This record gives sequence, structure tokens and C-alpha cells, in this order.
Amino acid sequence: MLRRLLLYLSRAGWARSIITHWGIARRVARRFVAGETLDEAVAATRALNARKLTATLDYLGESVHHAEDTQEVVQTYRAMLQRIHQDGLQATVSLKLTHLGLDISEELCLTNLRLILGDAKQHSIGVTIDMESTAYTDATLRIYRTMRDEYDFTNVGTVIQAYLRRTEDDMRELGAEGSHVRLCKGAYLEPPELAFPAKADVDANYVKVTRQYLQTPGFLCIATHDENMIQAAESAIRETGAKRFEFQMLYGIRSARQDSLAAEGETMRVYVPYGTDWYGYFMRRLAERPANVAFFLRSLVGTR
Ligand SMILES: Cc1cc2nc3c(=O)[nH]c(=O)nc-3n(C[C@H](O)[C@H](O)[C@H](O)COP(=O)(O)OP(=O)(O)OC[C@H]3O[C@@H](n4cnc5c(N)ncnc54)[C@H](O)[C@@H]3O)c2cc1C
Repeated sequence: MLRRLLLYLSRAGWARSIITHWGIARRVARRFVAGETLDEAVAATRALNARKLTATLDYLGESVHHAEDTQEVVQTYRAMLQRIHQDGLQATVSLKLTHLGLDISEELCLTNLRLILGDAKQHSIGVTIDMESTAYTDATLRIYRTMRDEYDFTNVGTVIQAYLRRTEDDMRELGAEGSHVRLCKGAYLEPPELAFPAKADVDANYVKVTRQYLQTPGFLCIATHDENMIQAAESAIRETGAKRFEFQMLYGIRSARQDSLAAEGETMRVYVPYGTDWYGYFMRRLAERPANVAFFLRSLVGTR
């Protein structure tokens, strides 16, 4: 119930305008967000690289409804790619198609994406297209395949969510195509016809498709903080002898486990979000873990 409420609030404009005006909310969000500027994200990436962790930088934002607003997003991603290249950072980038105008038109989104991918290819920096709600699953996979074929397989990847009932089929096809896929559990509010409502079913699907995907020509990014998922993936890797994979986690979550996976010799990539549009991302992180809500509420009470 709490998860559903928080995910509903993550999309509600009225809640956004109340919560983003609380200074304390911004401070609590900083636990999950590297900062508001590119310089702060670069500093966080440098600190991760010093710990032998790689990164993927995300400029926060989604659901852009005015074409002119997407220009700033494109410029920011191009500046980010230039900075990663110039500073020699161990980092890729992640982006959301609704941030690049998918709600306005697929054509605008493709034009914007091509500008970013052109620079990414020039500097050999990977780009992952995040997955949003099921309103965008088909369009995201269609755009991913178009871009992957225009640019190249190793530079462009996308995300699949284990909570979706369609995922096993999608993963089978993407694996046969040799795709670069980040597998996560899924962070949006979805109806039971489309997504498994029970955590046990989501987890079972995650383990099942991880094992299957590791046996395909595709590259798998195992994106989870769940120890059971990590251990299931490690045993599938041992059994299958898979070599084309890495682990991924979010900035500010299970940092010690990020270090221990890197110390075991695994590639560990941390998703580093930054920017002022942190509201939707922050609410999805609260929805994932009731303890985070309690922490947020305690901070609120503490300020009175
Ligand atoms: C690198 C990366 C990229 C992602 N990209 C996408 C995407 O493109 N689209 C999408 O829908 N989702 C994305 N997600 C989010 C994902 O779908 C899940 O919502 C999120 O990772 C929580 O699931 P979990 O696998 O960690 O397991 P859960 O079952 O949610 O959590 C397992 C355990 O992990 C720890 N944990 C999990 N979340 C938190 C938290 N917020 N704070 C503190 N501890 C926590 C807790 O110990 C918890 O018990 C991404 C996640 C990662 C790691």
C-alpha cells in the first residue's frame, strides 16, 4: 500500500510542488543524488573511480512536454560526454526517452538521441536507455533497436524490468540479438495484468531470466541491491562460465557491497544521478524501502 501511494505521489504535480519546496526533502534526497551540477556529478564519479568503481551518469528529468526544453537536455548530455572524455572518467551515461521528448514525438526524440549518440560514439562512451513505465516499453525497445543498429552494439544498451510479465520473451529476443541489457526489478506503478504484484514472483523472474540471459551472446548488467539476486547471479555465472556481465547499483545504496563486489574482481557500475529535477527519482527510491520513508519522516519531525 505504501509503495503504491509513494509511486502515485511520484507522478502527482500537486505533491511535487509541496515536497520540492521543503528544504529538508532536498537534503534527504541528497542521499541518493550526487548534486545539482555536472561538476558535483564529476566529483562523485572521481571518488567512485578512486574506489575502483565505474559509473553511469544520469541527468535527472523526465516527461518533458515542450520541444524547446529538450534542447537543454541534449546540450547537457553532450557536455557530460565531453567532460567524461576530457577528464578520463571511467563512466558511461544513462538517459530517459521522455526527457528527450518522447511524449512530444518519437521523431523529436530520435533526432535528440542521434546528437547524443554521435558524440558518444566519437568518444567510445556507452549510453544506456533507461526503461520507464509500460506506456513506453514498446517505443523504448523500438528506439533502442534502431539506435543500436545505427550506432553499435557495445555503445548502446537498454533496460528490462523483471516485474513485467512480458520480460522473459523480451529477454529471449534481446539475448539472441546480442543486446546490451540492464536487468532491474522495475520501479513504476503497474497494473497486475502487466506486472507481477508479488515480490516473490518478481524475484523468481529476475533469477530465471538472469540465468537464461547469461547463456546468450548478449551482455548483462545485473542491476540490483538484493543480496539474494546477487548470489543467484553469482552462482549462475559460475555454472554457465559467463563472461559478458557486470553488476550495477544506485548511488548511495549499499556502498559497502559495491566495494566488496569490486574487491572480488567484478565490474561494479554505480548509477550517479544529478540535477535539480530530483523529485520523481527520489520518490521511487522512497517507495522501494519503507525504512527510507521512516528516515525522511524522522528528519521532518527533527526540523520542527
Ligand atoms: C543501476 C540501476 C539502474 C536502474 N534503472 C532502472 C530503470 O531504467 N527503470 C526502472 O524501472 N528501474 C530502474 N532501477 C530501479 C530498479 O527497478 C529497482 O526499483 C531498484 O533497484 C530496487 O530493486 P532491488 O533490485 O534493489 O530490490 P528490492 O527488493 O527493492 O530491494 C532489496 C534490498 O536492497 C536494498 N534497497 C533496495 N532499494 C533501496 C533503497 N531505495 N534504499 C535503500 N536500500 C535499498 C534493501 O536492503 C532491500 O531490502 C535501476 C536500478 C539500478 C540498481
